[in-house]
Amino acid sequence: MQRSEVIQKARKKYIGSGITNNITEALRMYLEKDATEEEQIPLFISAPVEYAIKRELKLVRPVCDECEGELFMQIEIVSLTSGEHFPTAWICKTCNKIEYSNKTPEQWLEILKNENRE
Ligand SMILES: [Zn+2]
Repeated sequence: MQRSEVIQKARKKYIGSGITNNITEALRMYLEKDATEEEQIPLFISAPVEYAIKRELKLVRPVCDECEGELFMQIEIVSLTSGEHFPTAWICKTCNKIEYSNKTPEQWLEILKNENRE
């Protein structure tokens, strides 16, 4: 089961019904009350994944296509305009452009690792 699928279900059940508007809170309730055994995912991504991303970002950090500023990764972000949840987003430190992504931190880690090898 993909992390993003479980989060979608949690969002539908607890944010869709107006119980909360916080995705972490929605996920916590879903994991406690509704999740099947195979849907049990960690509430937060694990520290090793975060650590690995930070390490990869030191080597290759994507840049903004509009201003070439450095992009920073945000995890479990909710769009300010649509309210939609995304596993990750890239935020430009210079022009504040936000690029939402459906890729998980783990998927980005793989991409960043591959770029480092080239
Ligand atoms: Zn920019």
